[in-house]
Amino acid sequence: MPINISIFETGSTRVRPSLMTQPPGNVLLRRIRFLADRGFTDPIPIFAFLIEHPEGNFMFDLGETPRCNQPGYYNWWQIGQYCVSVDIKPDQGLGDQLRARGIDPQNDIKAVILSHLHSDHAGGLPDVYGKPEIYTSQAHWNAFKSPFHATIEGANPKAWPKGFQPSILKPDGPAIGPWTTSYPITTDGKIVAVDTPGHVPGHVSIIIFDEDITYLLVGDAAYSLDLLDKELVDGINTEPLVALDSQRKIKEFCRGRDVVVLPSHEYDSVRRLKTKEVYRPT
Ligand SMILES: [Zn+2]
Repeated sequence: MPINISIFETGSTRVRPSLMTQPPGNVLLRRIRFLADRGFTDPIPIFAFLIEHPEGNFMFDLGETPRCNQPGYYNWWQIGQYCVSVDIKPDQGLGDQLRARGIDPQNDIKAVILSHLHSDHAGGLPDVYGKPEIYTSQAHWNAFKSPFHATIEGANPKAWPKGFQPSILKPDGPAIGPWTTSYPITTDGKIVAVDTPGHVPGHVSIIIFDEDITYLLVGDAAYSLDLLDKELVDGINTEPLVALDSQRKIKEFCRGRDVVVLPSHEYDSVRRLKTKEVYRPT
């Protein structure tokens, strides 16, 4: 039985150009450059992914939420909010979009895998909170469980459901390509998570082994395939060389087989999914 992947666009965002990429280097200087930067990129989408598998419905990330337009949604001192410009319509929240597809977000989702907890990936948390297991890696939760630190680093714990604590992915799956271990998501081994840290500590990506092709959902490990191909890491992470290593692993994995790579913030992901366009690293 084939696996079905769907992309939901939960609004779009324009960001400071220096957020997209900066050369690896001093982390503080990279952030100062980002804060001093002016102007915005063209809009990029904020995607969440539904994966329908015989064992159930799985979400990879939850996108942004229209609630972010309400005053007081962010703490005033979360400076990142002033460096991005989100455009999300009232009906573009994940909960409404899932219901429009006939999926009850709180009862018909088996598990959610969060690549990381940045606010544009975890905005839909209150929509699904309840029955579905919600997973992050241990390394990510270690880095983001302090609300103050998570806020400084671009998450919005203020908007998480009260008492939220993720389930932790178990790294007891087999080695896959360049990854020495993996996190099984389904029991048949067809959906697994792998470590792609660097954008943030403990960031994970998802691999889906479908009947005829493999999909790799890279979250924010690469904002676009062009940036991935040129090995250009995002501009404001705290570990640019770790991010670079993750990009190289992704490329190495794609050299060994036919893989459709789907970043979370690139409109072309929609077409690549539809046409099963394989990524060939240069
Ligand atoms: Zn992010």
